[in-house]
Amino acid sequence: MDYDISVIPGDGIGPEVVGQALKVMNKAAQRFGFGLKINQLPYGANHYLKTGVILPEEAFSELSSTKAMLLGAIGDPRVAMGPLEQELLLALRFRFDLYVNLRPAKSFPNVKIPINTVPDGEILDLLVVRENTEDFYMGLGGLGQGGYQGSIKAKRGLYHLEGSVKIDLSPKTDLAFSLGLISAPAAQRVAEKAFTLAKQRGAKHLHVASKANAVPQLYGFWDEQVNQVAKNHPDIALKRLNVDNLCYQLPRAPMDFGVILCPNLFGDIVSDLASSLIGGLGLAPSANLGDHLAMFEPVHGSAPDIAGTGKANPIAATLSGSLLLNHLGQSQAAQAIERAVKDYLSQGLDLPFELGGQASVEKVGQILSLALETMPIK
Ligand code: ATP
Repeated sequence: MDYDISVIPGDGIGPEVVGQALKVMNKAAQRFGFGLKINQLPYGANHYLKTGVILPEEAFSELSSTKAMLLGAIGDPRVAMGPLEQELLLALRFRFDLYVNLRPAKSFPNVKIPINTVPDGEILDLLVVRENTEDFYMGLGGLGQGGYQGSIKAKRGLYHLEGSVKIDLSPKTDLAFSLGLISAPAAQRVAEKAFTLAKQRGAKHLHVASKANAVPQLYGFWDEQVNQVAKNHPDIALKRLNVDNLCYQLPRAPMDFGVILCPNLFGDIVSDLASSLIGGLGLAPSANLGDHLAMFEPVHGSAPDIAGTGKANPIAATLSGSLLLNHLGQSQAAQAIERAVKDYLSQGLDLPFELGGQASVEKVGQILSLALETMPIK
């Protein structure tokens, strides 16, 4: 059996890590008797600089015929921050209504972590469940001189938004604004998912990040929606924390946490923190899930500071590939990749630069591919 997969390697270290992830995924596919038909798409900074096009309409129709896609990273110092991220990465999340962003952060035996509150021999196992379509990621905002007047428009799987904004500042001065928005069904569906995942993990509680004290309209409403959903899950205790307190508590007592539900912006931040706690961004995969297409990508960005140096760790991209195969129903292949990563890191030999070793991005890919080739399977 063959699976069609779309791949956007993207920018910076994106192509480097995705190249290795695909190598490992193909090895896993070979071992477990299926094939991957890869449709590689060129979008990202280079394509934009060459053509002026970020993501053409035909890309959306092409993508809608596949069940899963892998994305490397988007963002390039040659392009002003914003348009690429908004019209490519966020556009994919919004157009395909990928409303849940799962960001697992699980530590590995023998990988040094920057905290000593995880008892020896124990594994830190966090899962950030991030709302992926709203909040301050709506893309609604603008710049004004002396004030602002203009229309706003957004399209989501659950609704269309249209309106206008008029701001007068007196005395007149330059300004910028962004609108955050949370709708009841979007908040409730991601909360439902978080409770379900907490239950699947056998958790007794679910943490939820908020900031209702300082931004009561937006995050007070978020809390209300989550509380509403919590009524359907009396067996799981909801623990609400302001996000600043969450960032304070998480490194101090990480083993007290499991599933952490976050609105979009806080989810991005908290998941980077969680990646740091397990040893590095290069270890943290993610899944963007909707009801149709699913998109998998490492939590990290394009890391322009190390792009082209060979120092990128491809494990986050490879584990994202493992999540993708699991999503396609190839759970044995997915588990084999996880096992290869775990065994490799446990041995502590030839580690990636990020973990204090000297192994290039390609070398790590080779080690993992070889492990998949030779791994005994039942
Ligand atoms: P974004 O907002 O797009 O996620 P960012 O500003 O958070 O991007 P990253 O590109 O994720 O930044 O990089 C943050 C830091 O982590 C950089 O120092 C980068 O070199 C490092 N880093 C990120 N990914 C990796 C990786 N795969 N291997 C090694 N180091 C990485």
